[in-house]
Amino acid sequence: MEKNFYITTTLPYVNAAPHIGFALEIVQADIIARYERMKGSNVIFNTGTDEHGVKIYRKALEEKKDPQVYVDENAKKFDELKQALNLSYTRFIRTTDPHHITAAQEFWKRCEASGDIEKKIYRVKYCVGCELEKTDSELQDGKCPIHPNLELEEIKEENYFFKFSTYEKKLLEWYENHPNFVLPDFRFNEIKQFVKNGLADFSISRLKEKMPWGVPVPGDDTQVMYVWFDALVNYVSTLGWPEDEKTFEKFWGRRDNPNAVQVAGKDNLRQQSAMWQAMLMSAGLPPSKQIIIHGFIISGGQKMAKSLGNVVDPFEIVKKYGTDALRFWIAHEMNTFEDGDFTEEKFVESYNANLANGIGNLTSRIMKMAISNDISVSLPSESDGYRKAVEILSDLEEFSIKTTIQKVWNEIRETDRYIQETEPFRVIKIDEKKGKKIMEELVLTLWNISFILEPFLPDTALIIRKMIQERIVPQPMFVRK
Ligand SMILES: [Zn+2]
Repeated sequence: MEKNFYITTTLPYVNAAPHIGFALEIVQADIIARYERMKGSNVIFNTGTDEHGVKIYRKALEEKKDPQVYVDENAKKFDELKQALNLSYTRFIRTTDPHHITAAQEFWKRCEASGDIEKKIYRVKYCVGCELEKTDSELQDGKCPIHPNLELEEIKEENYFFKFSTYEKKLLEWYENHPNFVLPDFRFNEIKQFVKNGLADFSISRLKEKMPWGVPVPGDDTQVMYVWFDALVNYVSTLGWPEDEKTFEKFWGRRDNPNAVQVAGKDNLRQQSAMWQAMLMSAGLPPSKQIIIHGFIISGGQKMAKSLGNVVDPFEIVKKYGTDALRFWIAHEMNTFEDGDFTEEKFVESYNANLANGIGNLTSRIMKMAISNDISVSLPSESDGYRKAVEILSDLEEFSIKTTIQKVWNEIRETDRYIQETEPFRVIKIDEKKGKKIMEELVLTLWNISFILEPFLPDTALIIRKMIQERIVPQPMFVRK
């Protein structure tokens, strides 16, 4: 039976250029989406940009631009990641899209009809960096621990709240009945504990006169939506919800068969696996199937900061080393669910060992041997290649990206070792038939490796297959740095 697979990243704010941390998230999602396509699944892969809110509004004012002009310019930079990282997403949603705006309003109306939206006085300390309200127990020295350089804001106004507190039991029940709802386990435990500790209603609108850059609240033109009912609803509006019920059910799933996989950073655990899920329940929609939480990339042992001069720009890395080199680093050098440290020195070390000397050298050795000895192999079909590959890659079902790519590199190393042990280039001079047989075997192995490589290094995989099919003398694929 045909499987419909839906995966989405979070939507980054367009108030800064794409960050390496987002590159990590979207490459992880891309690997899974490509693997699902190899299995024959019908895939919708969503990403996009979150374009409303106070940070963006202020930034646009600062640059003396109309907010729409400002977000148009910045959204383009995020779409450019598609080429830079060779991403295979099929939807790019912008929260300023007219359809998204009407969907967000419809979502609001449904939650209001469930009695979960009410007006109250809102008075809170607020971190503009996180776009989150902070309770005193979450602060360190009176500051947000993630944004120690930002002053917390004190806010007091009348606005709308979502009755998050009424969803404590329902969320815990959902978690209980869906034991793989959040990956990894330690993050799942963290969110369970958070919900058990009791939920506070959260503010979902702002006074329009103070912050006009948002989706108008239905039935109250003095207020605009604040972040959550706007940004999070993209995951369903991108599927054509509410009008396109068929696509929605196929990809988002049903309550008894949820289907949506969401990838998010550890700073988004609460938003994605609790707040958004409660909102879905309130709107009468099925919760997500699974929330995958990744760690952060730090740089040279420290959190990236402009002031430290250690910010890693994904576009620069790609320019210098190539798309697949960055994809490789993300898959192979990052612990899939934990923080990882980027230094250019270690990046180059791994590049030389695994790409220049690893797959690059292996391909070149085998292809040179095959061409100079006129080896011709009858190649299995591509669908055969994919069928075999998905078995080897099946750990990707659990999102174990690092473990899976390590298997691929074991295969590459094994093949290298096999060449060293069998020395076909020597054997062929003594026993032509035997030598040719080993070489044929090696070409077939390289052919198979190209398929297991494909979700991680899609370009490299295609280049290898083209070389084999068209018997092209190999150019070095990854030049030593
Ligand atoms: Zn913060």
